[in-house]
Amino acid sequence: METLISSDVRLLANLIQEGKVVIFPTETVYGIGASTKSEKACLRVYEIKGRPKDNPLIAHFDSIDSIAAVCELGDMGRVLLERFSPGPLTLILPKKDKSLFPKELDTLAVRIPKSPVVREWIKLSGGPISAPSANLSGRPSLTKLTDVKRYFEGVVDGILLAEEPSFGIESTVVSLVSKTPVLLRPGSIESKELLTILPDLVVPDPYTRNELLSVPLSPGTKYKHYAPTARVILASTDEFIFSLNTMSESKTTAWIGFSFDGKEGEKKKQKIGKQPLSEFDHFCKVTSNEEYASKLYAFFESCDLSGIQTIFCELPKEGIGSEGLRNRLEKASSV
Ligand code: AMP
Ligand code: MG
Repeated sequence: METLISSDVRLLANLIQEGKVVIFPTETVYGIGASTKSEKACLRVYEIKGRPKDNPLIAHFDSIDSIAAVCELGDMGRVLLERFSPGPLTLILPKKDKSLFPKELDTLAVRIPKSPVVREWIKLSGGPISAPSANLSGRPSLTKLTDVKRYFEGVVDGILLAEEPSFGIESTVVSLVSKTPVLLRPGSIESKELLTILPDLVVPDPYTRNELLSVPLSPGTKYKHYAPTARVILASTDEFIFSLNTMSESKTTAWIGFSFDGKEGEKKKQKIGKQPLSEFDHFCKVTSNEEYASKLYAFFESCDLSGIQTIFCELPKEGIGSEGLRNRLEKASSV
């Protein structure tokens, strides 16, 4: 199959209108999209990804008004979208237009991507566009065009060229379906910020979420997620430095984190400097949680491509940007 790779939003909108599947960048990760009005096109997205059928898709809209036209937005939903959209916030809302995919659910996950180019494309497509992350189910989401092409060129009908993802982890998901709002998936918009607007937001404890909640969780939370083929080890700073210090000769180990600056890290850097092992850099140094999130999935991809078997990931710094990142690292490191 020929894949149309273009920044021409009109051409790619035509594909969506014809019931085709198009990959596009958002500020979080790449999405693989089809018209929310076409069940057949949406089912093809499931087939391409190998995604379980009971894990619904997020519908991407160009504006708050377009959401309000097909969902019960309510005052709270509107306040949240006005504060955080366009941006990495997904709301689960009661559906007004029952013909939208998935037809068997009374609810719809909605989000407005940040990029004006993507919003224009959604508008020209006659929107909304249902899209999960553009990756094979269970694997890390993709944040680089080169990775998207490697997996999906010749498989999907189109790839929209626009600004590459910058946040790097998937959107925060909040359900407004029952009386009490619930955080279903942490992300870059953190519970602290949401609580300023939604003081009764239920924020499940990640270690006991099932027991604590009387409301149903997002179906997506029951699946293995975000995991590269390599084994991921989540390490405290001490463990991270210790591993750098003791495993420096290993060609099948890689590290992502903050703490390469200690004595051990410097020694290791010098060694690598003297005898480069390959094009692949085993060390991904970051200086903030935000940078960590934006580089994580691409690093996982390059580790798998380079035959890395173990990836040490340093725990995020406490505070801003840690909530979503820590959630993804915990999922990726769980066996
Ligand atoms: P992704 O697979 O990265 O596209 O993430 C989509 C997330 O939104 C998954 O966790 C889905 O289970 C969740 N989701 C989508 N639609 C709904 C819905 N109607 N109700 C609850 N969760 C949903
Ligand atoms: Mg996904």
